[in-house]
Amino acid sequence: MAEIQLKNISKRWGSFVGVDNFDLTIADQEFLVLLGPSGCGKTTTMRMIAGLEDVTEGDILVDGKRINDLEPKDRDCAMVFQSYALYPNLDVYENIRFPLRMRKVPASEHNERVMRAAEMVELKDFLHRKPAELSGGQRQRVALARAVVREPNVFLMDEPLSNLDAKLRVSTRAQIKNLSHELKTTTVYVTHDQIEAMTLADRVVVMSAGVVQQVGSPTEIYDNPANTFVASFIGSPAMNLVNGTIENGTFTCPGVTVTGIDTKHTGKVTLGFRAEDCIVGSAAPSISAPVYSMELLGDATMATFRVGDAIASVKADKDFRAEIGETVSAEIPPALTHLFDATTGERI
Ligand code: ATP
Repeated sequence: MAEIQLKNISKRWGSFVGVDNFDLTIADQEFLVLLGPSGCGKTTTMRMIAGLEDVTEGDILVDGKRINDLEPKDRDCAMVFQSYALYPNLDVYENIRFPLRMRKVPASEHNERVMRAAEMVELKDFLHRKPAELSGGQRQRVALARAVVREPNVFLMDEPLSNLDAKLRVSTRAQIKNLSHELKTTTVYVTHDQIEAMTLADRVVVMSAGVVQQVGSPTEIYDNPANTFVASFIGSPAMNLVNGTIENGTFTCPGVTVTGIDTKHTGKVTLGFRAEDCIVGSAAPSISAPVYSMELLGDATMATFRVGDAIASVKADKDFRAEIGETVSAEIPPALTHLFDATTGERI
């Protein structure tokens, strides 16, 4: 069991606020992802859970027990970092075994536990190599095995995939998801990559400048972003955001008219819509504008326009072609639009 309660925790250095009033209960066995741009406070939050950073204000409880003053070694959290932090002079076997020796686990258990961890991350054929003789992906798997071998209550992972190439990232991501599922360990995972967050998380916490912007399942934050920050951070490409005016359910700005939006709101707003929701070449276009760029994605084509004060993308099928500068039309289905306050960015 490991339910982690973060009760209004803050971290300040002098007058600088790194994390502001973070309040969340992470359920036992949950895979929670902290997502946000560089400097938003993700790592600091994780370091406070690990005990590597003091909490300025608030309490951290694990299974109802306050752990603010516990030493990192007494917290039963295993960490995996982006830099693998392996011991260069120890082979893979000894690297994986190291935490067992440190924690004075009876020697009779070592071999079985090391072999089980090595098997989980598919490293059994590499046990006698030194870290320098491994690829980046293999090194990261040694770091994972070293966390797994401890059988901790909590995994804390800080951008563990960021040093891997795109292909390895996808396969190691699947391995991490599978491990956490199999081991039923509560996991807190830090990343700035929204695809990683969406694919791994039970719930995602989107952060900006030390402040939690939204907490929800990947579907919730994709379908109902709480504000324009979250909307512009989630999705590939991110949601289109266009400033204009709404009246009687009709949104207008230069190049865009969307009718039939179910709202009583009037005045200045930001309209959000996703490229994948648009219907290119529809008989009832809401956007009609010259194409600014075209990208062939393999399974689809992405056309980008300049509309109003923004750039917006629409996804067409893979055979769609248009010259740059050619006028292309697309429908934005009104039921799939999102409205945000033009000043605060909050969802309306
Ligand atoms: P990244 O993705 O770049 O690692 P992050 O979201 O993990 O970013 P943090 O490392 O948590 O960000 O840092 C949050 C903020 O706190 C940053 O502005 C950082 O400069 C600041 N910060 C971190 N450690 C300290 C420190 N020891 N003293 C002062 N400020 C710090």
